[in-house]
Amino acid sequence: MTSGDHLFARLLKRSDTPSTERPEPATVQPAGLHLHLNHHGQLLHMTGSLRHLLAQQLAADQPLPLHDFVLPHSTLVLEGLPDDWQGQMLDLDFPGLGEQSLHLRGWVQPSSEGWLLQLIDVGDLLLERHQARSREECQAMAAQISEHLRACSLARLPVIVDEQLQTIAQRWHMPCIALALLDDEAQGWQIHRQFAAHDAPALWHNQQALGSLLDSLNGTAPQHLSGNQPGIHHPGINQPIANQPLFDQQPRLQALFGHADGFAVPYSDDRGVAAWLLCGFYSALEKAPELGDRDWLLLLSALAGPLLSRLREQQHHLQLERMELLQALLGTGWWEVFGADEIHLAPSLASVLQLDDTRLSLDAWLRQIHPADREELRSRMHALQQHDEPLSVCVRLHRGDAQLNPPHLDKQQQPIWYRLQGQAIGSGDSRRLVGFMLDISDMKNQQQHTAAAHARLDNLIASSPAVIYVQRYVEGALIPTFFSASLGPLLGWNLEDCAAAALIERVHPEDRDRYFERTRHLLREGSVRARYRLRDCRGDYHWLLDEAKLLRDDLGLPVEAVGLWLDVTEATLAAEQVRQSEERYRILVEDSPAMICRYRPDLTLSFGNRPLATYMEVEPAQLPGVNLGSWMSDEQRAAFLQRLSLLTPELPVSTAEISLQLPGREHAWWVWSDRGVFDEHGRLLEIQAVGRDNTEVRRSQQQLTQSAKMATLGEMATGLAHEINQPLNVMRMAIVNVLKRLDNGDVQVDYLSDKLKRIDAQVQRAARVVDHMRVFGRRSEIEQQPFNPLDAIEGTLSLLAEGLRGKGVELRVGENTFTARVRGHVDQLEQVLINLLVNARDALLSKREADRGFKPWISLTAERDAQLVRLWVEDNAGGIDARLLERIFEPFFTTKPIGVGTGLGLSVSYGIVENMGGRLSVANSLEGARFCIELPVVAEG
Ligand code: ADP
Repeated sequence: MTSGDHLFARLLKRSDTPSTERPEPATVQPAGLHLHLNHHGQLLHMTGSLRHLLAQQLAADQPLPLHDFVLPHSTLVLEGLPDDWQGQMLDLDFPGLGEQSLHLRGWVQPSSEGWLLQLIDVGDLLLERHQARSREECQAMAAQISEHLRACSLARLPVIVDEQLQTIAQRWHMPCIALALLDDEAQGWQIHRQFAAHDAPALWHNQQALGSLLDSLNGTAPQHLSGNQPGIHHPGINQPIANQPLFDQQPRLQALFGHADGFAVPYSDDRGVAAWLLCGFYSALEKAPELGDRDWLLLLSALAGPLLSRLREQQHHLQLERMELLQALLGTGWWEVFGADEIHLAPSLASVLQLDDTRLSLDAWLRQIHPADREELRSRMHALQQHDEPLSVCVRLHRGDAQLNPPHLDKQQQPIWYRLQGQAIGSGDSRRLVGFMLDISDMKNQQQHTAAAHARLDNLIASSPAVIYVQRYVEGALIPTFFSASLGPLLGWNLEDCAAAALIERVHPEDRDRYFERTRHLLREGSVRARYRLRDCRGDYHWLLDEAKLLRDDLGLPVEAVGLWLDVTEATLAAEQVRQSEERYRILVEDSPAMICRYRPDLTLSFGNRPLATYMEVEPAQLPGVNLGSWMSDEQRAAFLQRLSLLTPELPVSTAEISLQLPGREHAWWVWSDRGVFDEHGRLLEIQAVGRDNTEVRRSQQQLTQSAKMATLGEMATGLAHEINQPLNVMRMAIVNVLKRLDNGDVQVDYLSDKLKRIDAQVQRAARVVDHMRVFGRRSEIEQQPFNPLDAIEGTLSLLAEGLRGKGVELRVGENTFTARVRGHVDQLEQVLINLLVNARDALLSKREADRGFKPWISLTAERDAQLVRLWVEDNAGGIDARLLERIFEPFFTTKPIGVGTGLGLSVSYGIVENMGGRLSVANSLEGARFCIELPVVAEG
């Protein structure tokens, strides 16, 4: 049915005489309008059904000019009088009821009253023509729009769309128009472009997001949207509004159209509704009644169709571009296998692999793969080809021919890894084998580096004395869940052995409290450092240093503890030993009765213990900084330093009796042991010394020596008398002789002076003996002095020589010409020699008592080498019983009768020689005893 048919149907329904037949205009009364006119063209009366539709009715018998009835533009047709109109087709428009006009066509013919103008309704005919024209126009416009959209460049597309929207809007008087497209990315509708007349309010803007708002519209036909209240009829001569106003259900949709009339045209393609043309403040029914749904749909499809395809084309193009870029960036690309042995590669891939062609044989392609991976790939490819098994494999590229590889692939000669994935898609004839290749060198190399680093770390941990562990937090308790592999070598356990309860069992009973405290501290503070003993599988305990940290989740709740056990057994035991030995040392040093100190080579004390401080009458704290040398005379100090200078790392210890001069106090004697501490270059750093006060011993020794000396003197009294008697005798003889000569008067001067000289010599000799006796009887000097040992021999002989000769003992004294100096007291060495000579004389005399013919002798000799001076005293008295040899140096040991021997001679002598740093020894020679005094030579200068 055409719209014209509709119209007729409607008209017939409204006419008074309903009929389905269309009346013949010339013969049948009167379906149209019959106007009866007089000769002047004035309307007399009218008949026909259409007369009811006219706006203006004729008052009874009041002829009116026909002009008054027609619309102004129709008056032109009615120029002149009816007579002139004969034979013409007259198209006249009459104002109708409401705002409609009636389009009528007719002709005049003479009638009885004058003229009869018969008219029929040609509104539909006109409308149809009008519509046809509109449609043509519409089609032309559509063609033009589509042409524009197809032809323009992508860049100008938005402008062109705007222009087309403007054209449509202006042609059909739309205040606002917009094209809404389904936006794939935003998953909703969006105003693509819009146009608003300059005097229209802006309903929309470009790129306005509409969400799912338009989904509620029925997308098969244009939608008329009425802004009027429901229930109010919207008058119109066209179709009644087919749909209920949608705005009732969709207040937001109503808002979109500004709460006014709206019109929306859908465009559908294979994806469903893809576009809407939105017209605001617009009622298509009123403003463009000539356009039907089809016209609107056509118009929009001309706009949306090409636009969408251009946009999709653009999107596709962009996607392709992005893909290409991505493939190039990632070194990736697709591949597809054709037939049995041909492979087609993405151009990007072919260029990365430096292949000339994108199509190549499967074998040629496999040759690009490293031999180590080639056969695996071949087999998997086969599995894909034959059994559709999806392919996923990582392979290295073959770089045997370095020239084939781009230079950047050769950097550091690292392998180039590719991940290859592929699968079969489709089936039957359309089955294809496609996949991609992705450069994963970075990842793979990273992975290998990581794996290597991991392995190294694992190794390190496994071989280190450290165990890394993890304890999981379960309801306040920490349960071991992991131990590093080093647990085995260190303690000989595995994870099961160290479950929570078992672990406590292995903690040393004395350390369990520490362990519990460690766990509490860890949970409280988040980290802990503790030390406790743990039993290993052999039952030995290890000291472990435990350092742990608590890891928490986002909510701050404990998750697990990660920690480290370090075996510090050796260090701990060593530290304990050091502590103990330090303690012992401290006790030793502090509580020792000995004087202990440490001092630097310049003799400055760095430490001195209480006995030393007590001796020096100060507090121990006052000792550091005091110079040891300040307690000595210059000579003592020089001797002390001389002794220290002999210390070496090989022989670091030296012991000596030192004498000190303490200000305001009597002389002190210390037996002093020094131990030098050296650095790695052999330099003396400090000296540790232990000493004991020997003053008392020294003093009694001196007294002993003195009394022994006095005893010697007493014992020698006879000898001495002889020594003095001898010169007296010589002098007496000389005087007697001189007196005799005087009596005879036979005195010559020469004779006299000769005798007087002899007397003088004898006087001198006696004086010497007496002098020496006085010196010998004196107490020894306190300090030792350097002296020539030959002086002591001479002194001894001056006292004893004459006496020995008087007793018939031959004295053999060697020629001693050397010079040397030893340290000590010359009188004491003399006393030693006297003791030895007197002992020898006693032994000789007692032997001669038994044997009258015995010829006794004593030899006294001296010799020296670089270090020592040796004095020998030998006799021929038969020696000392071998069983007594060891005992003769003991004090009070004597074989002589009571009252004769004291048993002190040799023991005192021994002490004297020892004090001089020397040694007194005895051996039996062939004929008798042989004593030897060894004395160290004092360095000259
Ligand atoms: P005294 O002379 O008062 O006995 P000494 O200590 O001087 O004490 O001597 C100890 C002993 O050593 C002597 O009694 C003697 O037996 C022995 N003796 C010392 N010198 C000699 C010697 N030259 N020959 C043999 N015996 C000796």
